[in-house]
Order: sequence, then structure tokens, then C-alpha cells
Amino acid sequence: MRRLIDIIVSVIVLILICLPSGIVWAFVSIFAGKDFLTCRIIFGKDFKQVKVCWFGMQSSFFSSLPLFLSLLKGDITLVGTSFYPCEEYSQSQIPEKIAEFKPGIFNLWYVKRHTKIHHAEKTDIDLLQLSGRGLKKDFAIMVKYIPASIYKSDEGSIKDSVTLLDVTFNNCTMNEALRFIQKGVENSAKGMYFFINPDCLNKTFTDKYYFDILRKADYVFPDGVGINIGSKMTGQTLKQNVNGTDMFPLLCSMCEQRGYSIYFLGAKPGIAAKMVSMLKEKYTRLKITGFRDGYFNKDTESESVIDAVNETGAQVLLVAFGVPVQEKWIYENRSRLAPPVVMGVGGLFDFYSGNIKRAPGWLRDLGGEWIYRLIQEPGRMWRRYILGNPVFIRRVQKWKKQLDKG
Ligand code: UDP
Repeated sequence: MRRLIDIIVSVIVLILICLPSGIVWAFVSIFAGKDFLTCRIIFGKDFKQVKVCWFGMQSSFFSSLPLFLSLLKGDITLVGTSFYPCEEYSQSQIPEKIAEFKPGIFNLWYVKRHTKIHHAEKTDIDLLQLSGRGLKKDFAIMVKYIPASIYKSDEGSIKDSVTLLDVTFNNCTMNEALRFIQKGVENSAKGMYFFINPDCLNKTFTDKYYFDILRKADYVFPDGVGINIGSKMTGQTLKQNVNGTDMFPLLCSMCEQRGYSIYFLGAKPGIAAKMVSMLKEKYTRLKITGFRDGYFNKDTESESVIDAVNETGAQVLLVAFGVPVQEKWIYENRSRLAPPVVMGVGGLFDFYSGNIKRAPGWLRDLGGEWIYRLIQEPGRMWRRYILGNPVFIRRVQKWKKQLDKG
């Protein structure tokens, strides 16, 4: 069945799109002095080495058209695993399970990588794709290529930081962010770690104090698809979407493995407690030193809360009061708070206690997690997203214009 689909699709695409585009590109490449084709050898099914080619133009949908020749030949399939070039990978690095399948023109790795949510190894994402294979799932991956291609940015110029609306982010992968935290704990270096999304950046326009705090933070992680879009609009390439919700299970595993202790402060009464009991089941060796809700008087009760946190000897403190209350509280109390790593995590405890449901995986792959939050809490979130998103885009455009003017 799959082979039949591959043949039908490849014949249609080759005749209707590839051939006319190839003729145009042939002329352009001769006059522009560019290569007509760029080819690579990749591992195919059963580790067979196969040659795949692209038009030598800037990477785009059109550059991929010659892949449909390999599809017709049967070297690759329409929806399959990602490409493993032989010059970058050895056979031993690719799990046997992956080699049982053909590489696909469409694959989940491409979607996750360009939506910047590839928080796992390429092989793990391939295995994830293979675990639930079916024609419906394959079709979903092809649909996800549309937004992923829009989010895609030039990967040739990645810097260590990205600046948007005068706030500088650490341009890091999730693993690198975890290593910053690890270093913070190991060196007992007091740091402020924030996750910043477009809504936070919008808030800096009306809250100069909050803006100044963000500029003093030790680590600012890019949270959400909007920061990727803003980076792309300003010619910067974001490595990954490093949001707190995706980081949390990885952080818990790291703390469990390394024996770091952790304290949870924030959310409504009962929420942190519920989350802790769930965490204790999953991370049995995780040292949770304590928790408390975030509904106390920040002016009069902070001192006793800080003493309580410090007494537990926690090394990592997660503060979930929402933006910008948590960042201000952390900044004002940073010197008195003993844990080396203090992070602002917004609604994280609500997600992990099950109080608020997180968007399903397919919507996250489309970069639409915010849509789910909007549907769940329209009354509170419409201002943030319906008004906030276009305002953010406009501000980035204006900011870029100002930068260009110098
Ligand atoms: N919250 C809190 N103390 C307060 C105000 C709010 O602990 O004084 C909690 C609230 O219950 C919720 C979180 O802070 O769990 C804010 O969640 P939200 O999703 O609004 O976070 P944001 O998106 O602003 O980071």
C-alpha cells in the first residue's frame, strides 16, 4: 500500500512540479553559476547506502523536489525516518529498529527541529515516530510540515545569544540549559533563571522595573514559538525552544540522578502538594525538601517563607507566582535566598498537578500550545494572545527597523 502511494505521488510530483521547476532551475543555475544538484549518501533501509539529491538552490520545498526521484526508485519513502548522512553517522550510531525502515521525505525530526522542540536525540525522535506508525499519523506529519517550514530558519549563523526587544536570551539547547543549572548547583553560584515568552516581552513595555530585572538575570531562556518567530524576523537563529514545561521532567531526572534537592514554591493551596505526591511516585529518589503555596503576603510574610526554604537546604528553588510577580520577588530576595538555582516557572505546577491540561502533542508540534491555553482560559488569556501576539509582532518589526537605521 505504502509503495503504491509512493509511486503515485512521485510520478505526479515529478511530472507536474519537478520537471518544469528543474528546467527553470537548470537555466538559473547556468547563469548564476550555481550547482544544479547537491547530493549526499545516506543510510537507507537495512543500512543500504543510497544517494539522494536536492536542487542546489537555497533550501526550500523546491530544492527537495529531486528527492521524489529517489522515492520513485524506492530508496526512500514518503513518510519515514530522518536522513542519516554516511559522512556524519556510522552504522553503530543508528538503532537497528530505525534501519528496518526507509528514510522519508517527510519525517518527525524535521518537524520538531524546525519548530525548535527537538529536545531529544534524532534517533529517539525517529523511534517515537515509529512507535505509533500508521497512515493517519503519516498524514499528520505531512500536515505539520507546513508550519514547520514557516518556522524554519537559516542554520548557518547560530550565535550564543539572541536579542529581542532589548532583552538578551541564552541561545541554548535544552541540554545546555540543564548544564547551566548543573553548573550553578555544583559551583553554589547564586543565579536567577527565567523563561521568557512574547507576553513577558510585551510586559516590559509597560513595566520598566521588570525590564531592568530581565536584563540583570543570569539566564534568560527562550520560551515559546513566538520567540522563534521574532528571532527569525530579526535575522537571528534560535537553537531551541527552552520552555519550563518541557524542561521540568528533564530537570527532575537530572536532580534525581545527581542528588540535587529541590523546593517548590507557588500556585494555589493544594496544587504544589498534589504535584509533589505525583512526582514522588515517578521520581522515587528525588530529594524534595519542601513546598508551599504562593498565596502569602509578599510584603510581610516573605521573610518567614525565605527562612523556611533556606532551612530545608534546597539547592534548586522553583518559584511559581506568575510573571512578573515571581521575577520581582526573586530579584528582591535573591541575596537572602540560599538555593544557588532559583527559577521563575509561572503556571508550571498547575500543569504537573493536572490542574490545567497541557496541549496535546500534535498541537505542540504545530507550535500551537498557546491556542490550547486560550481555549482553556479565554477570559484571562485573550488579552495575552489575541491582543498580545500581533502587538508583539508589530513591536519586533519596529524594533528591527530602528536597529537597521542604526
Ligand atoms: N500565583 C501565586 N501567587 C500569587 C499569584 C499567582 O502562586 O500571588 C500562581 C497562580 O496560582 C498560578 C501561577 O502563579 O499557578 C501563574 O500562572 P500563569 O499561568 O498565569 O503564569 P505565567 O503565564 O504568568 O507565567
